[in-house]
Amino acid sequence: MKYEVCPICGSPAEQEREARSSTSYYNCLRCGEFVFPDITGIQLNDLSPIEIANISGWIRDNDNPKITTDIINNIQNQPSVPMLTKVDLLLKYLSVKFPIAGDPIDYNFNKVNELLNQIRNQTFPSVEDKHAFNVFENTAKKVLPLLSIGRILTRNEFNYILNNYLIQEKKYLSVNPLIITPKGWAHIETLKYTNPNSKKVFVAMWFEDGMKKICDDFIFPAIVKAGYEPIRIDNKEHNNDINDEIIAEIRSSRFVVADFTGNRGGVYYEAGFANGLNIPVIHMCKQDELQSVHFDVNHRNIIDWESEDDLYKRLLNRIKATII
Ligand SMILES: [Zn+2]
Repeated sequence: MKYEVCPICGSPAEQEREARSSTSYYNCLRCGEFVFPDITGIQLNDLSPIEIANISGWIRDNDNPKITTDIINNIQNQPSVPMLTKVDLLLKYLSVKFPIAGDPIDYNFNKVNELLNQIRNQTFPSVEDKHAFNVFENTAKKVLPLLSIGRILTRNEFNYILNNYLIQEKKYLSVNPLIITPKGWAHIETLKYTNPNSKKVFVAMWFEDGMKKICDDFIFPAIVKAGYEPIRIDNKEHNNDINDEIIAEIRSSRFVVADFTGNRGGVYYEAGFANGLNIPVIHMCKQDELQSVHFDVNHRNIIDWESEDDLYKRLLNRIKATII
């Protein structure tokens, strides 16, 4: 297999280029899969460690997103994630990869320093050097996604979080073998999304006749097809006096689908309320209205649907990819 270099983080990445649309498709060992149009103009070494960590983590959080100049600009302006959030992100990731209590975490964390040096200096082994490359690739495939999800900036930060915080201070992990401790599992329990067993999905949208029809014919069927029960509270247009019925429905939902077409204040309010409750929100907007979507939400990976069929397919894929 031939690896190119990821333009975001410098890690080895498979690349497929489509000249017709001036777009590259990457599958990076650190960032995962993403679509990268030439127009972004980003090249390796253009980004600071904070920018790399934020953009790489954002790509991992979304399913094969398309990187645009707007997204890069918005993410670039965000500060680094707080240390305790990184701790939780790393621990949660490990609990997903090693879901059985007592199973050893077979990641070679001793190699992290060497791995990050090789990537920084672009000195990772070539494919021809089979043995060295296999060793590198095995470690990279396990460790790099973890660094991406945890928004890790440097090897010192990673070593600090792993050894000083997770192992020594909090005792969420223990060594020999490296496992998640009972204290660690108890903490992971507090990080779970709200309502993990609910089938209910609250749909926040503009109550205009055309949109209601699109909702009935495409949004609801996509949610049902994914195995959930959609709920919409009609004719409850509001700006900020979110009512008890809406609050109760959102509170008990597994996730929220928020369509920003029409740019209604109520949709922002409902999406923000769900976010505050740690309930996942899937953002959508008709493509030709995307420009009017507010700054705070437009760095999220919005489904910018062109047609009703496009909406149906992408919403269904997004639910399958991100709601677990
Ligand atoms: Zn990358």
